[in-house]
This record gives sequence, C-alpha cells and structure tokens, in this order.
Amino acid sequence: MRAAQRALDIDYAIREVTVPARELESKGIKVIKLNIGDPNKWDFRTPEHIRAALCRAVEECDNGYTQEEGITELREALAEKERKQNGIKITEQDVYITNGVSESILDLVASSVEKGEEVLVPGPCYPSYIEYIRYFGGVPIPYRTDESNGWQPDVDDIRKKITDRTKAMVIINPNNPTGATYSRKTLKQITDLVGENDMFLISDEIYDLMTFEGEHYSPATVAPDIPVVLLNGFSKVDLLPGWRLGYSAFRDPNGQLTEIREGFVKQLRLRLCANYPCQLAVIQALRGPQEYMKETREKLRERGSFAYKRLNEIEGISTTKPKGAFYIFPKVELTRWKSDKEFVLDFLKEKHVLVVNGSGFDKTYGAGHFRSVFLPPVEILEDAFDRLDDFMRKA
Ligand code: PLP
Repeated sequence: MRAAQRALDIDYAIREVTVPARELESKGIKVIKLNIGDPNKWDFRTPEHIRAALCRAVEECDNGYTQEEGITELREALAEKERKQNGIKITEQDVYITNGVSESILDLVASSVEKGEEVLVPGPCYPSYIEYIRYFGGVPIPYRTDESNGWQPDVDDIRKKITDRTKAMVIINPNNPTGATYSRKTLKQITDLVGENDMFLISDEIYDLMTFEGEHYSPATVAPDIPVVLLNGFSKVDLLPGWRLGYSAFRDPNGQLTEIREGFVKQLRLRLCANYPCQLAVIQALRGPQEYMKETREKLRERGSFAYKRLNEIEGISTTKPKGAFYIFPKVELTRWKSDKEFVLDFLKEKHVLVVNGSGFDKTYGAGHFRSVFLPPVEILEDAFDRLDDFMRKA
C-alpha cells in the first residue's frame, strides 16, 4: 500500500544519522554521540526536588486527564515567569501546555499556515519548523544568518523575502544549530519588520537561560505591540527532555491572533492533554530552588569554550564561538567528500563519532557545516575532536 507522501517527505537529520550509528553499535562498536541535544545523556541530572515532585504526584494518584490547555497552577506559574523575566503582559489564560515545544510547533503551524502561505525561518534552522510548515502545505522561506557576523540575522535579506503571502516569522534565540544569541538592537530591527507587515512572530526561547555572554532578550519584550506566540519548555534548561513538556504563550495586544488561537485550542482538544503528573511536578522547577541552572551554565561555558578553541586548531575546520544553548556549527573544507552528509557518514564510519550534517538544518545556509553538541565533559570532547583532527589530516 502507498504511504502518504507528506510523511515520506519528512527529513529530520538529527535522528536520521542515528540509523548507521546503531548499526555500528549492534556490532559492539562504541560511538561518541554528539548529535542529540539531550543533557541527560551526559553528566547533567534532572534536579532532585523536581524528580521528587513527580513521584509525589504519581503516588497521590494525580494520574488522570487535565483540561486541554493545561492545569491552572502551572499556567499561572508560567505567566508569572514571563511577566517577571521578560516583562510580557500576559495572564494564565494566554498560556497553553503542550507535549514538548515540538507539539507547540505542530499545533501552531497546523492552526495558522494555509497551503501556499510562507513562513520566514532562520537559515540554518531547527528542522521541526521547516518540516511542519511543509507538512501543512506552507512554504518555509529561510532568511540568511551571517556566519562572518556570529550568525546574526541579515535584516536586509529578511526585508527582501517578505511578500503578501508571508504569514509569520520564526526567531530562535539562543539559536539551534548555531549557538548565536541576538542583541536587543538586532531583535528590534527584525521585530520592526513584523510590525510593519501583516504577520505574527513565533519566538522560540527554549534555551533562554542558557547564555554565556550577556543576557537573554525576548523579542516580545523588545517589541511590545506586535503579535507574538512565545514557545518555551522544560527539556533543556530544566534538564527533563523525556518528560515532554512545553508551552505556547500568546501575547496579542491588538487581538490579531484571536482566530489562530481558537484553532490552536481545537488542536489541543484533539490530542486531549499534556502529561498530568509531569505538569504538577514542573511547578517545582518554576517555584523551587534554581541553583542548578547556574551550575549547568558554568559547565556549558567551559565546554563551549573548549570546543571552540579545539575545533579551530583543526586543519580544514573553522567555527564561530557559541554564545548560548549547547551547539557549535563549524564549517568544513569538503575536500574528499561530495557533501557534508557524506563527510558526517565517513567520519562516523572511520572514527565512530556522530555529528549532524549542516544541510539537515538548511540546504543552502547549513551546507558545508556540521552540528555538534558540547554537552559531554571536556575529556570526551577532547577524544572526539582528536579523532576529527586525525580524520582531517588524512583528507
Ligand atoms: N525548539 C528548539 C529550538 C529545539 O532545539 C528543540 C529541541 O532540540 C525543540 C524546540 C523541541 O523541544 P521539546 O523537547 O520541548 O519538544
């Protein structure tokens, strides 16, 4: 029987490269996996007080469904976080709990993008945006981010790509895959374009408290009048990606998103609700001790600096310094490989280190690069990058 073409067309490079890695592992070969952004795979642990809250919730039999929008106490805690941290004027009614930010992306694109409508996405971009926009018949339009300028968005390029079909613009700050963070000035310039044209902003802030140089700025703070759906969650900063919890916060001062929000809530009804015990437990991530975040940031700062220095020492590799999240996006001189994908697969086969091909984040702006996480301790990163050094010398 034939499959639906839309499913066959899905391309999620971050997990697709694990297929050949698993083959090596099935032969007893140990692979250093630098492909997936999961801190728990290394020496980061979900804080004890949050784990304890989950055990309590399950023990007390809070195991049923919740309302589709999520439980009120968590929505209140998140609205408070956004008001305090980013000065965004919202109430708990504007916050919707989803199964990870992934589900927020899916539901938001499903409820806003019609066939043929365009969405501006950063180039390179976290692939879920590109894939879900295509899945629903929309057209992702990548805007250039400039490697020679620390992967900052090219405002003129964005301006040129706005058409009467543009429905929304995506900003990911701090960025995956480049590790860039954006200044207030840059955010002001891009968000002005949103305000001047008939579109809304999708602001992905899942790495908000993982910055190493300077603070995190939310585009919604910088542009108080534009319609924004802010996406964030608990997978990264709170170290619990397997719990699958995220949220969408609608900040819509002029009511332009009313209909999209109605469609979004219908999507939420269709999938019933997000995990109830986990919703209860993450309230502790917001209201309980926060020291673990400082510790996480310090580890990442050290590992990011190491990765930056070591990778730049390798012949044929050059990279900018990541300023947030836990990814680095180096450029490779593709001498003996036809593409970055071939480079990644060859490196895996010869040296048993797994990274992701840059073209998986955008065919134009990501090609000729690879993405590596810098989550592991320095000794493991050193081992992986020594192998890369050796591999490149043979090129
Ligand atoms: N948005 C960005 C920018 C990401 O990097 C990721 C995961 O890597 C997600 C969303 C998905 O996160 P979640 O685990 O909340 O679904």
